[in-house]
Amino acid sequence: MLENYQFFTQKLLEWAATAHRPLAWKGEKNPYFIWLSEILLQQTRAEQGLPYYERFKAAFPTIVDLANATEDEVFKLWQGLGYYQRARNLHFTAKYITDTYKGVFPSSYDEIRALKGVGDYTAAAIASFGFDLPYAVLDGNVYRVLSRFFGIEKAIDEPKNKKEFAELAQNLLDKNAPAAYNQAIMDFGATHCKPKNPLCGTCLHKEKCVAFASQKQHILPIKAKKIQRKERYFYYFIYHFEDKIVLKKRADQDIWQGLYDFPLLEMQELYDTKTLLQITDFQFFVTKFGQIKKISQPTSQQLTHQKIIAVFVEINLEKKLEIMDNQYIWVDLAQKQQYAFPKIVSDYWQNKTQTLF
Ligand code: SF4
Repeated sequence: MLENYQFFTQKLLEWAATAHRPLAWKGEKNPYFIWLSEILLQQTRAEQGLPYYERFKAAFPTIVDLANATEDEVFKLWQGLGYYQRARNLHFTAKYITDTYKGVFPSSYDEIRALKGVGDYTAAAIASFGFDLPYAVLDGNVYRVLSRFFGIEKAIDEPKNKKEFAELAQNLLDKNAPAAYNQAIMDFGATHCKPKNPLCGTCLHKEKCVAFASQKQHILPIKAKKIQRKERYFYYFIYHFEDKIVLKKRADQDIWQGLYDFPLLEMQELYDTKTLLQITDFQFFVTKFGQIKKISQPTSQQLTHQKIIAVFVEINLEKKLEIMDNQYIWVDLAQKQQYAFPKIVSDYWQNKTQTLF
């Protein structure tokens, strides 16, 4: 087995010496920027994350600058990336490091791992890239490469199997060059041993790769769970009075916490317009206050565990509503771009949604 370990690592480093995958954060040694890139890239493709990385660096050149920003400023820069809990953790942790470590990023694995929003993978990435500490990364790319090369037919999403993969990853790590090794295995998974159509024909590992020998590349890695997705139906009411509209800051323990949307009626299903206009709850939101200006076609946004289907109903008010609940605010329509919205709302503002009438 030791021979296989050495073969794997040696071939990986040989491959990395010839492969070129330019990434803005590659070779970065500033732990703040490494951490920023890693948080941005959780559940986000590198190409999508890159402009956000550049924008955050420009807006907040140091972790203290990020700590001193308002939550609205952070969310506005984050807009469009989704998974807003990451933005919340980013801001919280910047403040924590500023207060606890006087703005100097902690340099031990345990201190890094203890930061909010930092799991095993992110801690290993920051520790190895920023401080050359010998911790192997284990992300989706690494799981896939290890499952295939060693022919491990155990579910990668079952906690009981994680220890085995983590030990294997740690044994394979080149302890003299942890940053180069970690970068190499992630690049190899992303560009060579890809989820679909891995490049086995030109692979330096194929001589000892179990998946290649048994033609199981396409069934490995194994996953136990299929993600359950539910559908939710949002009816949004955009109240207009003169040149102002009502926004709602989402504060509940639900999706998009901290972002802005509108007064909302969530229903069990999607209705055609005729039926919708007869529903008492819907009538309450409309006729009590004003006249319908337009209703959009249903539009959707897919999240990890749920699909949001939204209909936007714009209403002209006869008089300005008194707002009693501080989650709601009147804003100038022309100033709306100052607020961070979920993607489905931004798309609506950009006229990507058809109207019914
Ligand atoms: S031979 Fe194919 S499956 Fe095996 S490591 Fe190489 S690319 Fe991945």
